[in-house]
Amino acid sequence: MIEVRKVNKTYSMGKEIVKALDDVSLRINAGDFVAIVGPSGSGKSTLMNLIGGLDTPTEGQIFVDGKDISHYKDKEMSKYRNEKIGFVFQSFNLENTLTALENVMMPLIFAGVKEKTRKEKALKALELVDLMDKTKNRPMEMSGGQRQRVSIARALVNDPHIVFADEPTGNLDSKNGKAIMELLHELNKKGYTIVMVTHNMEQAKQAARIVSICDGRTREVNRDEI
Ligand code: ADP
Ligand code: ADP
Repeated sequence: MIEVRKVNKTYSMGKEIVKALDDVSLRINAGDFVAIVGPSGSGKSTLMNLIGGLDTPTEGQIFVDGKDISHYKDKEMSKYRNEKIGFVFQSFNLENTLTALENVMMPLIFAGVKEKTRKEKALKALELVDLMDKTKNRPMEMSGGQRQRVSIARALVNDPHIVFADEPTGNLDSKNGKAIMELLHELNKKGYTIVMVTHNMEQAKQAARIVSICDGRTREVNRDEI
């Protein structure tokens, strides 16, 4: 479904060139649950940004459902993100002035979905994350775990092909973090494809696949290795 083929990504910092990804090839299949692990600065965000359509590679190709997105222009890229990708952030990135329901409806406004359908879809997504009793609450009235559920519902509302979770439990205590991991696994069982960046090795071990990244090079690892 997603195939990263011989991708390099370099950034120029004045005269210096930083190689963030070095000859990366990686396949993500529909229904996968992939954990991406690696030290700070190893290239995790760069990889997520390329597959997630937030940036383009310097060299190489990224095929999504057979189409090469590596040369997409801004407009095509935002369409790709809207239609195919759900993002979950460590810091939730919710709009504090909006209710849970309104936050979840946001991506549908950008996608031009009619109001009635927006509400139906958003409620369905909130049901998936078991948050039907908080639809009218604003983020400040919710726990960290509940906020992350809202952000997961927002990521799911467009029926994405793939959900990217960047340290989804990084701002949560261990109890809430565990509950969010259980939710992600439950969603994966329902068929959602999940790619998660984590520093937490115990979480990584629960994923079906683990990809480690070091100095911009990826390697598939066995759970016994970590
Ligand atoms: P990680 O997410 O694993 O911490 P990143 O993908 O953010 O790693 O970074 C990989 C490398 O690329 C690092 O050396 C980082 O400093 C560099 N880098 C990332 N983004 C930029 C940028 N916008 N400009 C210059 N260098 C960058
Ligand atoms: P951090 O890991 O520092 O907490 P975030 O989780 O907020 O950062 O964001 C992770 C990545 O997602 C960043 O590389 C950023 O470029 C991207 N990003 C942040 N906000 C948005 C957004 N609203 N839409 C799409 N991408 C975003």
